[in-house]
Amino acid sequence: MSDPLNETPAPADPGLAARVRIILVGTQHPGNIGAAARALKTMGLSQLVLVAPEKPLDDDAYRRSAGAEDVLDAAPIHATLAEAVADCRLVLGCTARSRRVQLEQLEPDQAAQRLLAAAPEGPVALVFGRERTGLTNEELQLCHASVHIPSDPAFSSLNLAAAVQVLAYEVRLAMLAAAPAAPAAPRPDELPATHEQVEGFFAQLAETLEEIDFHKGRAPDSAMRKLRRLFLRSELTVNEVRLLRGILADAQRMARIATGRLSP
Ligand code: SAH
Repeated sequence: MSDPLNETPAPADPGLAARVRIILVGTQHPGNIGAAARALKTMGLSQLVLVAPEKPLDDDAYRRSAGAEDVLDAAPIHATLAEAVADCRLVLGCTARSRRVQLEQLEPDQAAQRLLAAAPEGPVALVFGRERTGLTNEELQLCHASVHIPSDPAFSSLNLAAAVQVLAYEVRLAMLAAAPAAPAAPRPDELPATHEQVEGFFAQLAETLEEIDFHKGRAPDSAMRKLRRLFLRSELTVNEVRLLRGILADAQRMARIATGRLSP
């Protein structure tokens, strides 16, 4: 069965996603690296880069990647952040603490916009720090700007992979917005009914109301006005007009049988 949630089209330019690097610096728990790989893969990203992880990838990392082993296996390991970002056009450092450094501070959605704007020129990076201590000041000084997820200031630090997920999601939203899916052409039946088709329905409705003696001596205008308003508001499709007229035709047939104008 098709799953509509899986039908969101990939961004028009997959090359752009391949230019967004997610860099994890000095990660202490390999499990977090696995969870981060999963987080970025769900958002159509694939470029994970590790800088001096404390421990090598282990079973926990692979388990928590839950299907993103390819991302883990492809992740290069660098000794320093400077080396990992050497060819990058834009480097944004994610910090759990607000306004920690003298750097421009971006919200996640602004960061995603900036990354996508710069990506056509070359690789761009989002840098994430250590679980316990975040990024050092020296590392932040390699960044063009910082990114802070506006968490509760009293409890501001997200789990590393959760922070990666938030930023990767924003990047995905920005990519989808930059390449809106061409809307599928509606089937002819799903097109809005023409004026003539809707008027044909109203004429048959008026006729049917007479035939089933709906008005019982009252002037038909008021009911028809209300029914017109109701049906015009619902912007009927070609198919819906056909369905309604089918119902009316049956009602008319039954009324004609009931009044002896038609034999059953
Ligand atoms: N105790 C550390 C927090 C580390 S959390 C500190 O105070 O810096 C690990 C990493 O996740 C952080 O270095 C950062 O890159 C990212 N992160 C966690 N919470 C974040 C937030 N609210 N905004 C942006 N990045 C965040």
